[in-house]
Amino acid sequence: MTATREDTVRKRRVMHELKPRRIEVRCVEQITPRMVRVTFHGDELDTFVSLDADDHVKLAFPAAPHLGFELPEWSASGPVWPEGYPTPLFRDFTPRQYDQQDRSLVVDFLLHGEGPASTWAASARPGQTLGILGPRGSMVVDDAFDWYLMIGDETALPSIARRLESMAPGTRALAFIEVENVEDELPLHTAADARVTWVHRNGQSDALEQAVRNATFPVGEAFVWAGGEATALRGIRRYLIRELGWPSEWASFSGHWKIGVADHDHHEPIED
Ligand SMILES: Cc1cc2nc3c(=O)[nH]c(=O)nc-3n(C[C@H](O)[C@H](O)[C@H](O)COP(=O)(O)OP(=O)(O)OC[C@H]3O[C@@H](n4cnc5c(N)ncnc54)[C@H](O)[C@@H]3O)c2cc1C
Repeated sequence: MTATREDTVRKRRVMHELKPRRIEVRCVEQITPRMVRVTFHGDELDTFVSLDADDHVKLAFPAAPHLGFELPEWSASGPVWPEGYPTPLFRDFTPRQYDQQDRSLVVDFLLHGEGPASTWAASARPGQTLGILGPRGSMVVDDAFDWYLMIGDETALPSIARRLESMAPGTRALAFIEVENVEDELPLHTAADARVTWVHRNGQSDALEQAVRNATFPVGEAFVWAGGEATALRGIRRYLIRELGWPSEWASFSGHWKIGVADHDHHEPIED
């Protein structure tokens, strides 16, 4: 496969106004034993835009559980917080669903055990407030490739589920989703011609890579999107790009988290 000049049409970057907003928890639902769905609402969501399933926002978690979220002033060097208000902690999340008219936003949180985001989500209650920044931009991938490959763990599941829901009827797609066990699988809705493979981790760090290596892919030009633990994605990237010769222009790999690292920077390249 070789990338062609049509790629600017099939894949384009759209920037958005970077506006800090305050959002309030409307409801909380335990959707799997390890995943919590939080619906937020807020008047400032009337101008919230998210164009692609790959989008992410930065959620701002108050530095102490009893604190609500205070909106910062915005300066050239970034946010300036009210006097005496401790700087919140930011983490990246996927807008799973949003409704501009209803001014609501849904985020699915994995309860992985530690860290301000996971800890907050484990005891989230209606009425609590958080801050939200972004999305700064969207990389819009159109339904114009012959087929789509999606790979990821629970942190990628919100994006994969959203992408599947937005696909045009008949679009060919393959998804490989790694979860702990069968209880962590979620129902996925799509009009696409999609084949979803649930991969159970069973304590194996390369379970997802092995599932991808064992797959038979359709022919044609395809876009691959992958999100998950940064080190685990390396072998998958190596297989697709180096061994199969997949054009890197048709690939997006995002290290959503890294073992032992708090607030991992997803801009860090996935080295193959
Ligand atoms: C673009 C993007 C979109 C994302 N979308 C989502 C989303 O929609 N839902 C979602 O749940 N996550 C999502 N993530 C992942 C999420 O940002 C990270 O898991 C983040 O580290 C969680 O913050 P924390 O405060 O809970 O843990 P941190 O304070 O960042 O980390 C504390 C400890 O927990 C470990 N840890 C972090 N994440 C995991 C994990 N998944 N499994 C096991 N251990 C972990 C770290 O290695 C560290 O040792 C996304 C990440 C990116 C970059």
